[in-house]
Amino acid sequence: MKTWILKGDTVMVLRGKEKGKRGIVKAVFPARGTAMVEGVNVVKRHSKPQPQQQQSNMGAAPRTGGIIEKEAPLPLEALQYVCEACKSPTRLQRGETKEHRRARICARCGEPARESAKSA
Ligand SMILES: [Zn+2]
Repeated sequence: MKTWILKGDTVMVLRGKEKGKRGIVKAVFPARGTAMVEGVNVVKRHSKPQPQQQQSNMGAAPRTGGIIEKEAPLPLEALQYVCEACKSPTRLQRGETKEHRRARICARCGEPARESAKSA
């Protein structure tokens, strides 16, 4: 499935136990069709103290061990883009703006969305 959700977007969860929650997309995994959303679908993992071990790049592991809270990826189809202009969950349409020939346009208010995380 082709998604237009990009890292840095605000999304709302459409289904599941986190339904209705909003958050910022931390990462998109197109190959898996999932995205990680800040503060949404947080899972707790217990860890043993790992004083000599290198920290993983998937989040800071506490040196003393304990409980790690980390977001688990959500399926992209369970996420709805939230427009930054009208603050509403909305569909995105492809359209032209002065800057982009294939811009993402809010289907509700017509405002173009940010194009990528690079410009943020
Ligand atoms: Zn809008």
